[in-house]
Amino acid sequence: MKIMIDESFKVARKKNSVGAIVRVADVEFGGEKVVVMAGPCSVESCEQIFAIAKEVKEKGARVLRGGAFKPRTSPYDFQGLGEQGLLWMREAADVYGLLVVTEVLDVGDVTLVSRYADIVQIGSRNMHNVALLREVGRGGKAVLLKRGMAATYKEWLLAAEYILNEGNSRVILCERGIRTFESYTRNTLDLTAVAVMKELTHLPIVVDPSHGTGKRELVCAMSNAAVAAGADGLLIEVHTNPEKSVSDKEQTISTSEFGLLMERLRRVAEAVGREV
Ligand code: PEP
Ligand code: MN
Repeated sequence: MKIMIDESFKVARKKNSVGAIVRVADVEFGGEKVVVMAGPCSVESCEQIFAIAKEVKEKGARVLRGGAFKPRTSPYDFQGLGEQGLLWMREAADVYGLLVVTEVLDVGDVTLVSRYADIVQIGSRNMHNVALLREVGRGGKAVLLKRGMAATYKEWLLAAEYILNEGNSRVILCERGIRTFESYTRNTLDLTAVAVMKELTHLPIVVDPSHGTGKRELVCAMSNAAVAAGADGLLIEVHTNPEKSVSDKEQTISTSEFGLLMERLRRVAEAVGREV
């Protein structure tokens, strides 16, 4: 394979080495188990996040997702509940024994978000934000680094390198779809990225089939495909009442659909020597 990341880079996978495991409390990314992270696009209320946390935990998720600071395309759309949302999500996760992954949008909010989150998410729109990458690199939390919607593999890995360079080696890559000429789906989920990252880097790689497709009817198939391709985890938007989601309802699955997805995923995982 053509070397496009210098071997001396911190993200580069050393010859014949196994992938790194990123540990977050009792959860391991890059180990035998596929880590499922699930929850709403946005934290909307205390009742909403508790109800969803209960359901996703029962069905096998290990990490609760939910946005409190939302990078919305329009400034007139719901921007998230901020610290109140973080607090409710932390409480719900603690009650049901889940970890928390949530996005940080701003350099000035890294300390605040880190007080509530186990994993801080850098969203697609911020993958090129060098100041933010450096700041989470100096922080003590594991980082879920989403691929920029128009970023090459190299640019994505160099973004991870910024974080590692500041001393934080707990980085998890997340493929979430890229912009292509196809308009039927919201993005084109690039599952080739999973196999490529397994060659180029030791960092674990997870897949977000929700933003990756933008359509709830495609989420189950792409989750299975991601795990078959070697993904170390999934990030899935789930809601107790998807039609009432304040953001991304078209791509959000119900808790019962999530249950079915997990059942199917267990069989796929087993077939490729993994567990859910
Ligand atoms: C999200 O996961 O909440 C999100 C906004 O995703 P992305 O950055 O991939 O668009
Ligand atoms: Mn969303």
